[in-house]
Amino acid sequence: MLAVTTIAVWHRADLRTADNAALAAAAADADRVAPVFVFDPRYYREDGLACDARLRFMHECLADLRRQYEAIGSELALLHGDPREQFRAVLDGSVDALYVNRHPSSRHGRAVAEAVRSWFETTAFADDGIRYVDRRHRDGTVAVDTRDGWREQCEAHFEADPQPRPDSLGANPVDSETTVADIEDDYGVSPAKRRVPEGGTMAGNARLSRFLEDIREYPGSISPPAAAEEHSSRLSTYLAFGALSPRQVYQRLQADAPACRGRELLVSRLFWNRHYHQKLADWPGWTTRSVNPVFRDLFRDSHDPELAAAWREGRTGFPLVDAAMRALVQTGYINFRMRAMVASFYVYVLKQHWTAGADFMYAHLIDADAAINYTQWQSQCNLTGVHPVRVYDPAKQVRENDPDGAFVREYVPELAALPDEHLPRPEKTPVHVQRECGVDIGTDYPRPVVDYEHEAERARERYSDLADRAREAIREDSRTWRRASLSRRRRDSVGEDSDDGGQARLDDF
Ligand SMILES: Cc1cc2nc3c(=O)[nH]c(=O)nc-3n(C[C@H](O)[C@H](O)[C@H](O)COP(=O)(O)OP(=O)(O)OC[C@H]3O[C@@H](n4cnc5c(N)ncnc54)[C@H](O)[C@@H]3O)c2cc1C
Repeated sequence: MLAVTTIAVWHRADLRTADNAALAAAAADADRVAPVFVFDPRYYREDGLACDARLRFMHECLADLRRQYEAIGSELALLHGDPREQFRAVLDGSVDALYVNRHPSSRHGRAVAEAVRSWFETTAFADDGIRYVDRRHRDGTVAVDTRDGWREQCEAHFEADPQPRPDSLGANPVDSETTVADIEDDYGVSPAKRRVPEGGTMAGNARLSRFLEDIREYPGSISPPAAAEEHSSRLSTYLAFGALSPRQVYQRLQADAPACRGRELLVSRLFWNRHYHQKLADWPGWTTRSVNPVFRDLFRDSHDPELAAAWREGRTGFPLVDAAMRALVQTGYINFRMRAMVASFYVYVLKQHWTAGADFMYAHLIDADAAINYTQWQSQCNLTGVHPVRVYDPAKQVRENDPDGAFVREYVPELAALPDEHLPRPEKTPVHVQRECGVDIGTDYPRPVVDYEHEAERARERYSDLADRAREAIREDSRTWRRASLSRRRRDSVGEDSDDGGQARLDDF
């Protein structure tokens, strides 16, 4: 037992009381536990990359967390300001120590967390399936290879008993300085998105229960974007804020889901979730710099504000790209395939440098997770030099994943009257059909802003011109290889394709 009486617990991306290592340890070590959440103004600013709907979801998680604490006799203290200053003040007052769970992060969040972790009063816990290594090279890459036996250690984490939720805690010695309502007022948080799920552990568990009832529908609902909105697990936002832990979801699946393909697929995705967090923990540069130095400035010279705006606003003349971008902005959610397609379209077809696109998506996603979003952008756009150059053909995607146009018609209503067969390429609709349907392509809906076939071919050429140098960069620098590779696959398997959107299979980890 530590010689301390009062321990603060800093909730960050772990907005739950069960399976929370820092909280469980504080409850065991301290006489008094002070759970704290700090509203950091950085995330409420224009450049905070957080849409209001995501902030609202987080606020709902906090309300739920407050109820969880009330149920065990405590309360959640809400502070406002830079967490470094807030916790310095707390530790200079009545609190002796600070417990926090580690969480892979980058940019501002990482700087803040590292500063707080460096204090002698802070103890950081790591019980999340990630290997944290503090010894690093000058470029930020971890000095130790985390990949050996990674899958086994992650599985052992998933299988281990969850951290116990404290049965009861005394009153919180730290007073709240603000409320969620005041924060929403101060920053004018007013979500404009629709169909956003409700935040909180209770809502997350309800979502998981509904999903388990439907789990046999899941495999067929992963790729079609309209089906995914309803039948995909939609757990990502709960996982991103830690309203549920991946281990809780894993164990619930093992306990309550029938053995079926849907269960297998969800389990493999929980591993992917952890895998990409491991990637960010290993190299925080993922969010700003391409993994392979050869691609660092790719398409910087072809920046075209008009094309970038057409992509953001869903008016490229490619119906599925436009539907997906409008769905992203209107609802904060699109499925994996749509995310991969619009990312690949932005970089390969529109020839735009990747970071502004990745930031835009991150800002709008309800489930935005730096560890997944930026690593996925880099993988989908092969900025690693190890992934295949996979240029999604938006017309083919309509035929395969939205054949009845349900998704396109919902988000691009100006095409609603067009017969299904013309939705993949509206600009090719014969004029008499356009007239019959009352849809004038070029007036009601834009013609394609670029020639897809031509641009896809140019992208393949550009990548193939750079392929030798990219391979060389990997061969010469084991750190680049380690960052880029999904697994301990051999370097000569670079560029191998898989049947799952360039994803690793579970055995690959
Ligand atoms: C360009 C791009 C950006 C992405 N950005 C994010 C992001 O910011 N946050 C995010 O959570 N996911 C992101 N993903 C991964 C994936 O698209 C979402 O996790 C998924 O669509 C969320 O819906 P769901 O919860 O219904 O997923 P399900 O298919 O039901 O999967 C269950 C869970 O597994 C995890 N998971 C699923 N797919 C992946 C994947 N490919 N990589 C890692 N974990 C995965 C998620 O935690 C998800 O909630 C991104 C994918 C791409 C291609």
